[in-house]
Amino acid sequence: MAHSVTLIRGDGTGPELVEATRRVLEGTGVQFHWDVVEAGVDIMETAGTPLPENVLESIRKNRVALKGPITTPIGTGFRSVNVALRKELDLYACIRPCKTYQGVRSRYDNVDLVIVRENTEDLYAGVEYAVDSEDAGKIISMAGGKIRQDSAISIKPISRTGSRQIVKAAFDYAIENGRKKVTAVAKANIMKYTDGLFYEVAREVAKEYEGRVEYDEWLVDAMCMQLVQRPENYDIMVMENLYGDILSDLCAGLVGGLGVAPGANIGADCALFEATHGSAPKYKNQNKVNPTALILSGLLMLKYLKEDAAAAKLERAVSAVIAEGKDVTYDMKADRNDPTAVGTAEMADAIIAKMNN
Ligand code: NAD
Repeated sequence: MAHSVTLIRGDGTGPELVEATRRVLEGTGVQFHWDVVEAGVDIMETAGTPLPENVLESIRKNRVALKGPITTPIGTGFRSVNVALRKELDLYACIRPCKTYQGVRSRYDNVDLVIVRENTEDLYAGVEYAVDSEDAGKIISMAGGKIRQDSAISIKPISRTGSRQIVKAAFDYAIENGRKKVTAVAKANIMKYTDGLFYEVAREVAKEYEGRVEYDEWLVDAMCMQLVQRPENYDIMVMENLYGDILSDLCAGLVGGLGVAPGANIGADCALFEATHGSAPKYKNQNKVNPTALILSGLLMLKYLKEDAAAAKLERAVSAVIAEGKDVTYDMKADRNDPTAVGTAEMADAIIAKMNN
């Protein structure tokens, strides 16, 4: 039976990347019914909003979406469609696998780790008070001399509910993907209440998986050094929003950068798959940028849809094309001006051809 999937083409280079990915996913032999909807800068002009209601309706109905990147113009009051989608659909878990593929230019090999980032709370909750505001003043007097008078303030809420659901998501991902260990990363020696609560809840959840998945903890600063020195030692790392944001870019850097960094945003009711990178608008309509990150996001979607054989076939094909280094985009060549680099569509063609070999 065909899987119904919402397809958001995005803007900038999004539509080219989405088209390449759609063809590759169909090339696995899995059947899809694509519900194509528009969000972003281009639809804003006709619909008056960058996130029309039919986009949310379609995702709620299909429960699975594949999304191209969407531009967030700076200084226009245009709110981020990417953040709005995560919020509206309560996609609380951001899953970012970082794996080295032979042929990708990277300082490391044998990296195969996954960042599981909480997506809804922490310093990203948007609870902020401006310098010299009345509310900041109230908090400053409540803190009894611990905060300077001329401070702006951001609040860091960490809840039992949010911590529990993200840590559970990490352990469930470990079980579903045959992984061995979950590491909770925080700074509980300093933030005893917030990060302390995160560890407390993580330990409770870990007990429920005892004997099936190992558990340990690292302080975030020490974790950064470990990752730079011995990234091959780590498996699944679960963390709050801010640490997750920073460490997922660090880990993308370990495995070759944004061109190969996929992502999944998962909630209780639905899931949205997208690359870590943005819309790279300067390359729009040039058939130039690397489709690997979105194709690997599609691979995560296949696993989510329990199409494991197709996912394995696709991963073998992507690995082979990258390892050969012939039919790859400019950013994967040793010299970025290498005239033998192929376009977005042609790299997708090479992956499809490999699956049919
Ligand atoms: P970007 O990721 O679009 O580009 C950063 C750099 O990486 C650029 O040099 C670009 O050329 C390169 N790059 C990105 N994707 C690539 C690919 N697939 N192949 C080869 N090179 C690639 O980041 P940016 O320029 O900061 O953001 C552009 C727009 O995208 C902004 O409006 C931003 O808000 C938005 N954005 C959207 C998402 C999303 O849709 N989830 C994520 C991040 C940024």
